[in-house]
Amino acid sequence: MNEHLEPGDELLGLCLDLRAWAEVHGAESARLRTEQDHPLPATQPVELVSSPASVPPEVSPAVSAPQSTPSLERLQEQVQGCTQCKLHLKRTQAVFGCGDEQADIVFIGSGPGQDEDLEGVPFAGESGELLNRIIENVLGLQRSEVYLCNLVKCRPPGDRTPETDEVGTCSSFLWQQLDSLRPVIVVALGSFAAQTLLQSREDLGQLRGEAHAFRGAMLLATYHPADLLRDPGDKRKVFEDMKLLRNIYRERTGRELPTPPRQGR
Ligand code: URA
Repeated sequence: MNEHLEPGDELLGLCLDLRAWAEVHGAESARLRTEQDHPLPATQPVELVSSPASVPPEVSPAVSAPQSTPSLERLQEQVQGCTQCKLHLKRTQAVFGCGDEQADIVFIGSGPGQDEDLEGVPFAGESGELLNRIIENVLGLQRSEVYLCNLVKCRPPGDRTPETDEVGTCSSFLWQQLDSLRPVIVVALGSFAAQTLLQSREDLGQLRGEAHAFRGAMLLATYHPADLLRDPGDKRKVFEDMKLLRNIYRERTGRELPTPPRQGR
């Protein structure tokens, strides 16, 4: 099979399974994992700095953001001018986030890469194209209907993993961004984002497959699209995670995500 996932390949063909699955298991309830199930480990992989609102009350996404949360526009200006960590030294520009500011679903990656640094939007490169196809062909949404951002807003040189101080410094921007967005579901892409957001040392295989209570939303962990480009064998797990997302979405909103378009094989 082709190393890369193209339209019409097996992942997209799985949309047909999804339609059948949705019909058969529409009422199946998803397993939720609460923060109580998730004791913090003694040592954290990457420390996040909590804002005062790090554990917001469970509120409806329809409720307006707290007055102390700056608008996303204002926050973006602050991020563009930020010099708080060493990542600003080599960036072309900061990459704040993009998509629907009213979105119910927010995808969070680790940090911008070269394409994102040049274009100024997250998931602009090859892995972004694959993420777009997953959003469109498995969730039945357009990229513009969800919100995309990263743990850190500036490209780590050489596309290395962000360092502890970089994630810690940038986390106040992420928390304010999430407080403003108030998503129903957060999707952590890849083990680094999942472990960091959940402050867990469990590996992705343990963290995925269930929903974690997270800052008033539910967090699902899944493989990063770059992982899938390297190892397409994990695509079925991503498909399973997106099925779980549909269940959680239904449970939390009382609405269904759109049925994905039919794909030719
Ligand atoms: N990988 C990420 O984690 N984020 C991006 O924006 C691009 C690639």
